[in-house]
Amino acid sequence: MSTAQSVLQEVFGYDQFRGPQAAIVSHVIAGGDALVLMPTGGGKSLCYQVPAIVRQQQGLGVTIVVSPLIALMHDQVGALHEAGVDAAFLNSTLSYEQTQEVELRMQTGDITLLYAAPERLNTPRFLGLLDGLYEAGQLSMFAIDEAHCVSQWGHDFRPEYRALTVLHERYAGVPRIALTATADALTRADIVERLQLEEAGQFVSSFDRPNIRYTIVEKKDATAQLQRFIQTEHQGDAGVVYCQSRKRVEELAQTLQNAGLSALPYHAGLPVETRQRHQDRFLREEGIVMCATIAFGMGIDKPDVRFVAHVDMPKNIEGYYQETGRAGRDGLPAHAWMAYGLNDVVNQRRMIDESPAEETFKQVMRGKLDALLALAEATDCRRQRLLGYFGEDSTPCGNCDNCLNPPAVWDGTDAARKLLSTIYRVHEACQLTFGTGHIMDVLRGKDTEKVRQYGHQSLSTFGLGAQYSEAQLRGVLRQLLATGALGLHKVTSDSGHSFDTLALTPGSRAVLRGDAQVMLREATASAAKRTRKAPQ
Ligand code: ADP
Ligand code: ZN
Repeated sequence: MSTAQSVLQEVFGYDQFRGPQAAIVSHVIAGGDALVLMPTGGGKSLCYQVPAIVRQQQGLGVTIVVSPLIALMHDQVGALHEAGVDAAFLNSTLSYEQTQEVELRMQTGDITLLYAAPERLNTPRFLGLLDGLYEAGQLSMFAIDEAHCVSQWGHDFRPEYRALTVLHERYAGVPRIALTATADALTRADIVERLQLEEAGQFVSSFDRPNIRYTIVEKKDATAQLQRFIQTEHQGDAGVVYCQSRKRVEELAQTLQNAGLSALPYHAGLPVETRQRHQDRFLREEGIVMCATIAFGMGIDKPDVRFVAHVDMPKNIEGYYQETGRAGRDGLPAHAWMAYGLNDVVNQRRMIDESPAEETFKQVMRGKLDALLALAEATDCRRQRLLGYFGEDSTPCGNCDNCLNPPAVWDGTDAARKLLSTIYRVHEACQLTFGTGHIMDVLRGKDTEKVRQYGHQSLSTFGLGAQYSEAQLRGVLRQLLATGALGLHKVTSDSGHSFDTLALTPGSRAVLRGDAQVMLREATASAAKRTRKAPQ
């Protein structure tokens, strides 16, 4: 009978287990439940494939692998076949006859690993099959891949994953191993609760991807900035550029093509064949830049993606980590680059506010967004912040923009107080809230039609912030919104247009009182001036 070590060598051709794999594998072979958190490329598959083979040889029967990704299922089953392992999948791509054949092979004990889409577990037919195997003692274990999909707090909630919550009751004693590459503390707790993994061994690897360099720049003209980034640092490299909307994906792909890059669009609104073709080209050809929505990426295993760029900000750190994690799976230097601006804050806030979700849910989403905003505004090590969010302590990394070029910071406390006072005075004077443009005009003492219309030139704060540039004030605004010291208030005009205005929040008080310091990254233009003067 084979041991885990001999299976690793003889079936998979590897000398030794990597990191926590050995501990996980022996825990699962012994029949324990496990929750495995391991970054992309860490080697999650072996954590259940090796136990599946060993347990099958012990006469315990078939392992069911639940996976949401059809493409990945096909790849894995193909690779297992090549290694001489009996594996099969059940999903919507099979005909009735093919499904029947797989089911029969399962019943006769001919399958070691059976990959199934989660929705199968909602079908009486499949459950009936599992019941039969269970009664015969031939249901060896369950592996639940992409386990964060069970959590509504995760960034990729899939309702069909809820079917998995009954496995431990229906098939008591059958070990379960849940695996994910992304889960913050909240999502992790949710997975444990939903899947009732309280007793499970938890195996948490470091989430650090040391070969990925993190860079977050202030957004001015994202398209031009991206082009410069690619041209100066990644000419000819394969990369993914994430955009918020389908329209933006198509525009950007076109612009990059016009600039001579091999760029392709990918989003869920394109015909299936187009998507497939573009994905295939990305995988097979060199140097393709895929402009995509988040519909692209999960389960795409391309080792030499050299950069992942975000021209729009994702929803939260988990999404950011997952998406940037697609860079540099081969361990060679890779780059995560994001352009981020005031509009991103406003848009993301609005999407949460306008979603039909319950208030408690929105509250959690706002908290998650705030954590990402803090990462974007950070003037210290990005990696430390990122890992800290996943509960990991670390020291400054030396491989992020802030470590490599410590940003000049300026004390924006005074500017922030003046800005908040202006919002307060304007509201006091006319019981209305205004957008960023008007507030900045009042603060900087600009004589505009709107200023005169409302008589705002007579406010005590009019022109109080004249010494600050517009760029500086935008930085202040961004940070105040990011930290919740300033909020957005939606207003609908007479013509039916709705827009966002600025409103004070309970968090404004500390800044107004001068109790909270506001440290800001120096705007790029003045930072450049400063460095030019510096060497003497
Ligand atoms: P994940 O699912 O965590 O993203 P995979 O299971 O796809 O990662 O593994 C990533 C890569 O690492 C694969 O190419 C796999 O063959 C390889 N790998 C995993 N474990 C080992 C090991 N112990 N020794 C050598 N290579 C390994
Ligand atoms: Zn760093």
